[in-house]
Amino acid sequence: MTTPTDTSTPALTDFESRLAELDAKHLVRTRRVVEAKDGPRLQVDGQAMLSFCSNDYLGLAQHPALIRAAQEAAAQFGVGASSSAMLSGHEAPHDALEHELAAFVGLPRALYFGSGYLANVGLLPALVGRGDAVFSDALNHACLIDGVRLSRAESRIYPHNDLDTLAHQLAASNAPRKLIVTDAVFSMDGDIALLPELLALCERFDANLLIDDAHGFGVLGPDGRGTAAHLGLRSPRLIYMATLGKAAGCAGAFVAGEAPTIEWILQRARTYIFATSTPAMVVQAVRASLQVIAAESWRREHLTRLIARLRAGTAVLRWEHPASSTAIQPLIIGGNQQALDVMAALRTQGLWVPAIRPPTVPAGTARLRISLSAVHTEAEVDRLLAALRQS
Ligand SMILES: *Cc1c(COP(=O)(O)O)cnc(C)c1O
Repeated sequence: MTTPTDTSTPALTDFESRLAELDAKHLVRTRRVVEAKDGPRLQVDGQAMLSFCSNDYLGLAQHPALIRAAQEAAAQFGVGASSSAMLSGHEAPHDALEHELAAFVGLPRALYFGSGYLANVGLLPALVGRGDAVFSDALNHACLIDGVRLSRAESRIYPHNDLDTLAHQLAASNAPRKLIVTDAVFSMDGDIALLPELLALCERFDANLLIDDAHGFGVLGPDGRGTAAHLGLRSPRLIYMATLGKAAGCAGAFVAGEAPTIEWILQRARTYIFATSTPAMVVQAVRASLQVIAAESWRREHLTRLIARLRAGTAVLRWEHPASSTAIQPLIIGGNQQALDVMAALRTQGLWVPAIRPPTVPAGTARLRISLSAVHTEAEVDRLLAALRQS
């Protein structure tokens, strides 16, 4: 046995002091153990908690049809894909899913990735490289930012939705390839990007547009076909990416677009080529999910009613509640400690609403990020509103 002082090293001391600094700034993140779940009704540390923090917007993660599809696929293909898709990991379910995803979003071809993070850090360096230019909305998701960094392309960040600044940046660039990158639905604000206007800029400046529809796929558009379908966007310049661990209730992500673009990503995306392929049981669950997303439109209709009910109730609260027509409903609290205090007060009442702090959101805009799901009831939304009025 050694005592802690025996094992201390300069690096450990350094980590300890850096953790203490985070703690002093109220920026330490902690995890809680979920012991059981039934939609948003969780058991956490033995306590019943009603969750408003999941991205399972349609409530499909425990849908019986998806569970059955996964079980049957596990029996047939096992629980692991055993190798990269470039070797023997591209099984019949994977191949079928890619065709179904492309058809679902109305684009010629799709490529399925193990996760959204992997997709973005893999496809961005395939699309652009040194000497090219990427134009990113300031509120883009972390994995888009990391993908741009890995690509080594020149990075220009425009203030959120600021098309004038973006147009100036595009006009000033003589990069051979220009790519505008944006969340379709912003993950911490819930607002929708100005996609038709962005596509118009692409036409004007000969650029491509990559949209990350992690929060729109399944929720927006006819049959849940996503934000591009919602806005009727069609263009060979459009590269559409969406994740399947949120509204689709499973795991993974895909990129869809014109056939040469997708084939090039397949040839070049290192997170696709050098990662073990996703288990067929997940893939089969995604396929079942696509069917349910299209068929069970009542989930989107109920979600829309819940959003309206929540917004009507939060309008009377003292916090700013930015416009959002999606399942993501932020309440801007401001300071980190205040946001944590409200979260803690809700928790004592068995309500779990996450406080989101910098660096995930800009300094001074710490917030509660309420996310609604089609498996919430109206009474549950009312319960949250009653607790918020008291905090
Ligand atoms: C969640 C999210 C991702 C990451 O997707 P995962 O499948 O969870 O890795 C990517 N982009 C956005 C906008 C997201 O919200």
